[in-house]
Amino acid sequence: KRAFMGFDIDEIICELNNAHDTSDDKLKFLLERNGSDDRLFAAADRVRREIYGIDVYIRGLIEFTNYCKNNCLYCGLRRDNKNLRRYRLSRSEILCCCDEGYSLGFRTFVLQGGEDMAFSDDDICGIVSDITGKYPDCAVTLSIGERSRESYEAYFRAGARRYLLRHETADISHYGKLHPPEMSLENRKRCLYDLSDIGYRTGSGFMVGSPYQTTENLISDLRFLQQLKPAMIGIGPFIAHCDTPFAGQKNGSLTLTLRLISILRLMFPYALIPSTTALGTIHPEGREMGLKAGANVVMPNLSPVGVRKLYSLYDNKICTGEESAQCRGCLENRVSSAGYRIVTDIGDAKKPAER
Ligand code: SAH
Ligand code: SF4
Repeated sequence: KRAFMGFDIDEIICELNNAHDTSDDKLKFLLERNGSDDRLFAAADRVRREIYGIDVYIRGLIEFTNYCKNNCLYCGLRRDNKNLRRYRLSRSEILCCCDEGYSLGFRTFVLQGGEDMAFSDDDICGIVSDITGKYPDCAVTLSIGERSRESYEAYFRAGARRYLLRHETADISHYGKLHPPEMSLENRKRCLYDLSDIGYRTGSGFMVGSPYQTTENLISDLRFLQQLKPAMIGIGPFIAHCDTPFAGQKNGSLTLTLRLISILRLMFPYALIPSTTALGTIHPEGREMGLKAGANVVMPNLSPVGVRKLYSLYDNKICTGEESAQCRGCLENRVSSAGYRIVTDIGDAKKPAER
């Protein structure tokens, strides 16, 4: 049971779940060890069932623009990718996606896009209030990158209550290897703290196995999340995109991603943890495995089929050919085959007091 020159797995699992003082050494051991993760997955699943039962929350993702002013080295939407046909959805097209989503049981809509300045703050506010006006029982989540505090405040006043912005990596030198010099970890963090200060339920997270990432970087990510305490933590494997400077780089690993999902569930029992599309892209049953490792959210695509392939963050992205209703049905089967159940619910994170 006690690994050679190592620590006791069950002891680390217990520590992770009960306190936040697991040492960096132990985290490093857990992240780097060879061997089965079955006990880790089982412990994470136990915690997940205690708090969320077998419920899986769904978020309808509407990828409303693939224009981006940024040039993140990993992402296919980066501005220097000239091989990509760009698109924007109109206000009425976005509302159409919500109509369809609502009838399919979605009660959260995630508006995600590149950093597209053609959408002014007024435009974003208009879209948000359109949706909240028509569907007062739904939550609108924004995921449109780094903006000013004033902009975030305006979106909040318009009715947005959640915001997804992954920190990507909490290590400043690693951040510099993934982004061009005009972007900074400092501003990314500023955005995240502004968002939670304003009152948003925030989601953060990072890519697993991005180029140059070390175990120490991953530990910094976990430590940063302990400070930020986001409601949602989204992680997924890095997947190379052929039209980026990282073309040909190794993809993030399934094992390490699953291991981190379990660690996150143990460290943040109440967190909303999505089993991501990227995880489903590196393995046909990746999302099911993610759920069994402790994830409790899935975010299927509600974008019009005609544009799905164009939202190409990384190569071979799944679910780009199906209609929303097909996606919904497919996911229903996948979730139940893993032993869980999709619920029609706004899907807020639970809090310890409600236990
Ligand atoms: N522009 C917004 C939202 C769109 S990108 C933003 O950057 O926040 C959404 C997420 O896709 C990013 O946070 C990143 O973690 C992920 N992503 C981008 N390129 C990726 C790649 N090559 N592999 C895996 N995930 C990627
Ligand atoms: Fe733009 Fe987001 Fe892609 Fe960076 S990760 S290039 S900000 S869409």
